[in-house]
This record gives sequence, C-alpha cells and structure tokens, in this order.
Amino acid sequence: MSDAPSKFGEYGGQYVPEALMPAIEELDDAYQRYVVENEDGFVDEFRERLRDFGGRPTPLQRADRLSERYGTDVLLKREDLLHGGAHKLNNALGQVLLAKYMGKERIVAETGAGQHGTATAMAAAHLDMPCEIYMGERDINRQRPNVFRMRLNGAEVNPVSTGRGTLKEAISETMRDWATTVETTHYVIGSVVGPHPFPTMVREFQSVISEEARRQFDEQVGGLPDSVVACAGGGSNTMGAFAEFVSDDSVDLYAVEAGGSSLGVDEETGVAPNSASLSTGTEGVLHGARTKLLQDRDGQIVESHSVSSGLDYAGVGPELAYLVDEGRVTPVTVDDDAALEGFHRLSQTEGIIPALETAHAVAWLEDATPEQLGDSVVVCVSGRGDKDLESVVEETENREVPNAPDMDVFSGGMR
Ligand SMILES: *Cc1c(COP(=O)(O)O)cnc(C)c1O
Repeated sequence: MSDAPSKFGEYGGQYVPEALMPAIEELDDAYQRYVVENEDGFVDEFRERLRDFGGRPTPLQRADRLSERYGTDVLLKREDLLHGGAHKLNNALGQVLLAKYMGKERIVAETGAGQHGTATAMAAAHLDMPCEIYMGERDINRQRPNVFRMRLNGAEVNPVSTGRGTLKEAISETMRDWATTVETTHYVIGSVVGPHPFPTMVREFQSVISEEARRQFDEQVGGLPDSVVACAGGGSNTMGAFAEFVSDDSVDLYAVEAGGSSLGVDEETGVAPNSASLSTGTEGVLHGARTKLLQDRDGQIVESHSVSSGLDYAGVGPELAYLVDEGRVTPVTVDDDAALEGFHRLSQTEGIIPALETAHAVAWLEDATPEQLGDSVVVCVSGRGDKDLESVVEETENREVPNAPDMDVFSGGMR
C-alpha cells in the first residue's frame, strides 16, 4: 500500500488541538509500519478478514437493461453485497484491526445515519474490542434500526445533544473523547476526512474496490473502462472506486454529489439545501483538514441537506477536493427528486434496491452525455437500500416520482 503525503496541494493537513497531536503522530507511525510496510503481516490479515468476514471480492456485474438504455456497457461494482450492506466495512475493519496491532484496547467512532457506527460495531465485535459510538440525539431518533444493530453487536451508543444533534457534533464529541483517552483508544473515522493520516488511510482501506474492479473489468470486458461513477458524501466509496484508476488518463472519473432541493447557500437562513461541497463549496477548515466546505460569507459552516442522510455533510475529503481542482475528477450533482427516480429505476430494471446515496450515482447516468460515459462505465453501488425503505415510501408519497410504483399499498404496513 502506498506512502502518505500529509497534504494534497493546499488541502488536507493536521488542523487539530495540541492535545491530539501525540495521537495523530502515533497513528501516522502505525499506518506507515503496518499498512504501508505490512509489518507483522497486517495487510495479509486484513485481506483474509475482508474475504472471510466481509465476503470479498464483491462482483462486478453487467446491468443489461441500463446498458441498453444508455447505449454503453454499464457495470455495477456490487459493494451492496459486502457484509453489512455497504462499502463502510472495508474501512471499519481496517481501522479496528490496525487499532489491535497498535495495542489499543478500546474503539470510539462517530456516526450520522448510523451506517458507519454499525460497520464499526460489527468490526469491533468480530475483533473482540469494546466499542463506543457517538451519535447525535436527532439522528438517534431518526435511525432507530441502526441504533439497535449497534447495540446488538455490543457497542455503547452515546447520545450527543450539542448543536443540531447530528453528524458534525458527533465528530467533534468523538475527537474530544479521543483527546483524553488516546493511550488506550483508537478513533475510527468514517470517511476520507479528518486530519492526516485519516484521509489517506481510509482511501487505502477502500481502494480494494477499484483494485478488484480494475482486474474484474479486464477479465470480463478487456482493458479499462472509459468512465467510473460514484456518489460522494465524505467521499470514501468515491476515492475507493477511483484510486486505482487515477493514473489512467483515459478513464474519466465522476463524483456525484447531493444536489438536494437546490444548489447554493441561502445567506438569510444560513442553510444549504444540498450537500454539494465539491461543486459549490469554498476553501476552509473542518474537522482537522483544509478542504472544500459549505459555508456562509463569514466562514461559518452551514447546515447541509440531502434526501440521503449518508451524503448530508458540509465537507468532503481533501484528496477529492484536490483531484477536482486538478481537473482529474469531475463533480456533478443530482437533486433529491432525480435520486428517487434513480432508486426506483435500479430496483425495477435490475432487481437491485440501492441505498439512497447510491441512487444519486445511478441517477446521474440519465444526465450524462454519451461522450462522458464512453463505451463502458463502472458504477459503484456503494450500498443496499434496506435501511432506506421507510424514507423512500414517505418521500415518494410526498412528491411526484414518475417511475415509482403506487406506494399506498405499502404505507399502512410500513409505518
Ligand atoms: C455512508 C455512505 C455513503 C457516503 O459516504 P462516502 O464516504 O462518501 O462514501 C455512500 N453510500 C452509502 C451506501 C453509505 O452508507
């Protein structure tokens, strides 16, 4: 695995309080030894556990109806089939295992919608580590099933009541815990965000997605795909799907962000009705790194929005921000309505119910020009939609989704 520069152009870095520096330095050193240099066979054990516990490799599957619809070979990288139902386990398993190699005795993590908390709780149970998850109070109430999943896997769930009681506050609270417990504790961050070495380390753990996809594409189709498409919240499935293609100039990379209900920041309410930090954000520092952010003119981070909670974050990974500035990755947006259409399209035409996050990537195929897609496109199916069924029923009823089935028959039984 590859070495770790602490900055990506102007982005990244380590903007953390003095109290966290020892922890960050210890982690950077451990990342170098175990992950980059494979000391004590860390990488071998990681890969073995990804296979036996996680179920890797995940398939690269041709989507026949979508291929016909868009006149190009559409191949789906099926991270929805990874244990837990999303790509998040790749990272959680890597970090909990690394914590074990570092001699840590306790795991903490933040979670927004509960997907990363669930993946971390599963990995911690699998590796026999005590685990505490910080989660905003508002999110706890919105995401009951994931709270139960974490508790069932033996994790403690600590409610965070500061601010809006969502992901941003949960991250701050977890960093606070970590600053005072660093001797014994590792903080498993959930995406390619945070201070160095987190963005690089999480990208390395997730790059198994493109490593497999590259090999599978060559075996099944031959050569390289013309384009790769992935949704971007913090950007971990995105960087994972892109990593092994970044140096292949012939492969176009598209990061699909949540356009929400509209783009831009409403300066009056201080709310961005979207989560499009790559497409519309400006430079600033959040959670230990310089990156593109949704902020107002005074540099205050604003509230973001997306129909999919996993994309609802005001920041984005610094490496992805850098690749966008370099022109290597093209950011695009898909709004809430189109994402719901994408959700129903993949469900009906391919028999795969995607996560609402993933539905953004699927939906963008409608907007893409034939030149953008080329002759073959790999779409990262970052997760399955079981977690979203209730909100899909609700959201589909609340708006006109032209390709949705009649939802009346479901609503009685689902609420
Ligand atoms: C969390 C999540 C995302 C967004 O996170 P990234 O770090 O941007 O990948 C996307 N898809 C699914 C299924 C998720 O659970």
